[in-house]
Amino acid sequence: MKIDLHTHSTVSDGTETPEGVAAAAAAAGLGAFALTDHDSTAGWDDCAAKARQLDLMFVPGMEISCRSTEGISVHVLSYLQDPENRALRAEIDRTRQSRLIRAERMVERLSEDFPINWHHVAKHVTPGASVGRPHIADALVSAGIVTDRSAAFTEILTPKSRYFVSHYAPNPADAVALVRAAGGVPVFAHPVAHQRGRVVGTHTFGEMIDAGLLGLEVDHRDNPEESRQWLRRLAAEHDLLVTGSSDYHGAGKANRLGEFLTSAATLSRIEELASGAAVVRP
Ligand code: AMP
Ligand code: FE
Ligand code: FE
Ligand code: ZN
Repeated sequence: MKIDLHTHSTVSDGTETPEGVAAAAAAAGLGAFALTDHDSTAGWDDCAAKARQLDLMFVPGMEISCRSTEGISVHVLSYLQDPENRALRAEIDRTRQSRLIRAERMVERLSEDFPINWHHVAKHVTPGASVGRPHIADALVSAGIVTDRSAAFTEILTPKSRYFVSHYAPNPADAVALVRAAGGVPVFAHPVAHQRGRVVGTHTFGEMIDAGLLGLEVDHRDNPEESRQWLRRLAAEHDLLVTGSSDYHGAGKANRLGEFLTSAATLSRIEELASGAAVVRP
């Protein structure tokens, strides 16, 4: 069975609705998939309903935006956590609100040099969604300033650009602890994604492991081949699960569903370790 545990919908920065992601998962021949929108679980119910219809196993998840003490962006995947957990909800609600204000500030800065305003960006955001730079990228594409999201990131939206503004984000070790307290299984997403910016050192891995990290997303296109062996050794050393996933964003990224996979044994372990939500079976 093909299992892909990292996808995004219009609840965050993917281009397909949660139902659309389930349909795409079926079309890609997956047997099980997770929906892991940034800082939101709002897509779970629709995705689960569609997955059932399509005879797919569905793993409710989320990807939490974090920032290390050195200011480096870190993403923590959370599987099967209690979506109503107060402490975790408070944290992601705060991040989502900050994401909105941050996007507005970035657009203000961009509007000094480019013909875009908030209205143009809002057209690309589903109401209530976690707003990110990909939505700003969509407005830049619509205005004919860049050809696609990827070009917008390399040319205009990088953390080094003068248009960049950061948003509130919890410390990754704190996020790991919150996920565990909510009965979820925390997995460090694409830990060595160099081309997105700086990556954290062993110190941060150590803090996250001490806080209760349970897995590493080793097989992901943004982890360079040579780093994957190191990640596998680290996982073996600390008894961490190893996952592989696509990080599908619909038309928003080149990543294709099922391009990296997770084993059925690992999914079973995730299910055993979780106590906050259940895997949805057809
Ligand atoms: P933000 O959440 O606002 O910091 O934006 C980061 C998001 O942008 C990530 O979750 C990716 O989905 C997306 N992203 C990063 N780099 C690229 C790229 N080169 N092309 C398309 N999307 C990207
Ligand atoms: Fe994303
Ligand atoms: Fe990510
Ligand atoms: Zn992701």
